[in-house]
Amino acid sequence: MDAIEILKQLKDQGVRFTPQRQAILEYLLETKTHPTAEEVYHHVKAKFPGVSLGTIYNTLNMLKEHGYILELSYGDMSSRFDGNAKNHYHVVCLNCGKVVDFHRPLIEMESEVAEKFGFEITGERLEFYGICPDCRRKN
Ligand code: ZN
Ligand code: MN
Repeated sequence: MDAIEILKQLKDQGVRFTPQRQAILEYLLETKTHPTAEEVYHHVKAKFPGVSLGTIYNTLNMLKEHGYILELSYGDMSSRFDGNAKNHYHVVCLNCGKVVDFHRPLIEMESEVAEKFGFEITGERLEFYGICPDCRRKN
């Protein structure tokens, strides 16, 4: 889904969008880096110097609550935000915090879990942890 479509859907639900909020959404949809709120702030600030960190946080929360983005939390590391809310998985570097997408359908595992535990499965979170090639080279 692109920014225009999301803006339209949210407008139908009475959510007001300023140019700043739109820039936050567009950045999340285009980037593959899974930025922290701080990183979103620095990116949007380049174009909108008046934007506040509060606007970043409440826009991220609003988009998350409406299911358009994901928040990936990692214990003591800052949460990362993902403009792709569809099912996919992540490979995370424990050294630098880099988060990389991994796309592979896990439908078989999902139905196995549903059957074994009698759950209706509505989502899943699968992550691989390790040390990325950049960090391995430095060590
Ligand atoms: Zn790394
Ligand atoms: Mn992702």
